[in-house]
Parts: sequence; C-alpha cells; structure tokens
Amino acid sequence: MTTITRFAPSPTGMLHIGGARTALFNYLYAQRNQGKFLLRIEDTDKARSTQEAVDAILDGMSWLGLEADDAPVYQGERAARHAECAEALVASGAAFRCYVTPEELQARREEGEAIRAAAKADGISEDERQALRAKAEPLLAPFRSPYRDGGNPPPGNPAYSIRLKAPEGTSITVHDEVQGEISIASSEIDDLILLRRDGTPTYMLAVVVDDHDMGVTHVIRGDDHLRNTFRQIPIYKAMGWGLPAFAHVPMIHGDDGAKLSKRHGALSTTAYREMGYLPEAMNAYLLRLGWSHGDQEIFTLEEAANVFSLEAINKAPARLDIAKLNDVNAHFIRQCNEDRLMELLIPWLTEAAEDELDNDTIRRIRIALPTMKDRGSTLPELAESFRFFWTSNADNLNKKARKALSGDSLDRLALLRQTIANTAEWRDTALQHELESFCSVHDLSFGQVGPPIRAALTGGLPAPDLAPVMEWLGRDETLARIDFHLARAENPSD
Ligand code: GLU
Repeated sequence: MTTITRFAPSPTGMLHIGGARTALFNYLYAQRNQGKFLLRIEDTDKARSTQEAVDAILDGMSWLGLEADDAPVYQGERAARHAECAEALVASGAAFRCYVTPEELQARREEGEAIRAAAKADGISEDERQALRAKAEPLLAPFRSPYRDGGNPPPGNPAYSIRLKAPEGTSITVHDEVQGEISIASSEIDDLILLRRDGTPTYMLAVVVDDHDMGVTHVIRGDDHLRNTFRQIPIYKAMGWGLPAFAHVPMIHGDDGAKLSKRHGALSTTAYREMGYLPEAMNAYLLRLGWSHGDQEIFTLEEAANVFSLEAINKAPARLDIAKLNDVNAHFIRQCNEDRLMELLIPWLTEAAEDELDNDTIRRIRIALPTMKDRGSTLPELAESFRFFWTSNADNLNKKARKALSGDSLDRLALLRQTIANTAEWRDTALQHELESFCSVHDLSFGQVGPPIRAALTGGLPAPDLAPVMEWLGRDETLARIDFHLARAENPSD
C-alpha cells in the first residue's frame, strides 16, 4: 500500500515553526516510503480563515522545499461530502438527529456547576454533600443526548444537529507510533456533533472523512491533537473504515521549557527567512527538534529522507534553541554554493551599506566570498563582515586603529606603501611574500607593520588576513586608503 501522509493546517495565521516541523515530518515520512505527501487546507472556520494565511502557508512550505505531491485539497469545498457521510451514519444508526438546543446544553452545564458549588458549601452534612455531587456528575459528564436512542422529535420543524452515538461501556485505544498505546474509557467522550444545526460539518467529521477520502495512511501531527483522536476513532469505526496509523509529535517548547509562544521570538517560519536563515538550515534544525538519528546533528533533506522513521521521534517536548539554529545555519552558509549565496546576500549587503553597491564592489565581494563565508551565522551577520569593502571607516577610526596610525607606525606605512605599489602581481600570495620580505629587509616584526596597514585598510573593522584583503580591495583602492591616512597625518586639520 502506498504511504500517504498529509499536512492539514488551518489557515488562520502564519505557518508557525511547529506547523513547519509537522509538514517536514510528513514530507520525510512519505519520501522515506516512496509515498505521497499531501496538503489539505482546513478552512472550514470561515470567520477565521483567510486567503492571506493560505498564501503564507504555501509560501513557507515552498521556501522550505516541502512541496506537496498533489494540488492542495480545500476542506471547505468538501462540505457536501461531509454531510453525505453524516447522513449515512444516521441511516446506519451510528448517528442520530439531536434536537437539544445550545441553550438547553448551556442551562444543563450551569445547573451542574451550581450544584457542584453547592456541594462545597459549609454547613451541610456529608450525606447531603455526596448527594449533591452525585446529582451534579451526570450534568457535567460528557453529554449523552436524550435522542441517541431514537426519541421523538419535538413538534414543529425544529433544527437539529447530527451527533455520533458515543460507544458505551468500552474503551477507546490509540496505538500511537510515538506515544505508544493509550486508552480512555468511552464514557469520557460525548455524543459528538458531526453536523451542526446550520448543516456545516465539524472539524471532527471533516478531518476523518478527508483523511479517508485522500487515502491517508499515516496521520502525523502535533500531540495537541491526541485527545481529538479518541473522538475520531469512533467515527472511522462507525463508517466501517480502517484506521490510519497515528503519530502524535510532542510540542516544541521555548528555551525556558514553557509552551512556545510569541515571547520566545519569531515563530512564523518565513520570519526566519527575513532574519537571514537558509531554508535547508531551518529544515535541519526543525528535524532535530524532536527527532534523532544516532548522534548526527546535521542532515540535508535527502539524507533525512533516507533514514527518517517515526520510532525515532522523541517522546519528550523539544526546546527551541536559537544558538543551535545559528550553528546549523552557519554550517549551511559554509556549504552553500557561492553563486547562490551571493544572490541571497545581495539584499543584505544593500541593507548594510544603506545603498546599492557598485558592480566593482560586488565583484570583489564575490571573489572574497569563499574565504569570508564562515564569518557569519546569519546572512545579515555575513553581510556585515564585508563592511570594510565599501567603507574604510576612515572618519570613524576606533581607538586601536587611531593608535596604530600614529608615530613611527606611519613612517613604516609610508615605506611599505612604496614597496607594495610596485608589486608585479596583485595577488594574496605575492602580497604576503612582499609583506614578509619588507619585514625582514627592514628588520621589523610583523606586529610592527600589520597594525598600521590593517588600520588604514579597514579602519579597525574586523577583516581576515591582510594579503587577501589587499587583493580583494585591489591595488588602487589599497593604495588610496593608505594615502588617505598618510595625507591626513601630514595635514591633521583636514
Ligand atoms: N487543522 C488542524 C490544525 O491546524 C490540524 C488537523 C490535523 O492535523 O488533523 O491544527
């Protein structure tokens, strides 16, 4: 049987990272089993579902490369099919028309709560307390409709909902691939509504019908849905359908162990794109949030697709750890093809420089990229490390650079300028050689020569070794930066 998984987001907001991880696990499980990964947009809540949220979900999934194998299924378009299944269950006797109004249900609950409160009051006997509790209990217990065994409808043409007849006197068991076997007593579930009084399907019905009709074999979702599964299983059974396998994945928690919320940082998947993370890093990081394979930390999607399994999903909630995400991102930046990396970097360079960079600077940055690409764990950090390309920071020297460009150091800089100006080949190895022989000819240590030239070229901004920096800046720019500082030393008032 072909493995079919699905991601079934409700389009009521962004694609948060918990959802992205669910999508990823479903995608990988399908890949691992040469199956299909489907997308279902659960847009039955018309008031809260928006096209904007659908677009955000599709955008996030496509950024992560988690493309579904078929066009998305829109749950809202399947209402007629859901109603048909509800009616079929009425016909088979597994469901029934219920005429109890929401007001009656509310009144029942309120009565139960009032009696329970009365049972706590002072000054009543233990017997009275017990009696009140016993009276409150059925009113507060999961609802069993008086119509479940075929009571006559009230007169007139009253509205009704369709409810499933909850199983009685048994237990409902989920054989979960992650959580193991969990059972609850059937008395814990109510005669749940399948079709509301306005004829719209509930989530419980829609999800079961759709998973069945889409041929879903594995339902992999957040463990916040585990309790729903106990209510969905009786629907499958009533329809005479086999159950899919279930895998409920523990939630992602914040670094403080609390359930993930906005205060733990940006939670929308694409917000991480906006912060300069690579999609492959996001996938690798999300994958390890709750799944492991030996002690391997970093996976590509292809690698993960070869080894992903549901058994290796952790039972304990995972904790979001931005420092770790940064490490993973730094890894993928280093691995990234340089032409692609350059393309990703250009908007960040423009932002850092507060201007479009000229083609010559872009070309030089591209040449430097293979050496420089380990200098940032996010794209903006990496872009920042190129700052010395477009600014020598000449007007804003830090203290160290100012010191390096004073006294004897300046004389040495002037001397060095003359030597390197004539370097035949402006390449880092030749320049390195030039610097070394300059030191030995003048009996200077590199510590006496390096700081002034570095200060002149970068104004104290962080930069790698001098020779490559000189090569990247080019002969004209290198000499111009040195000349600027020599001239300023001669005319300090300039
Ligand atoms: N639409 C549900 C949600 O976004 C998921 C339903 C499911 O995976 O079964 O939470």
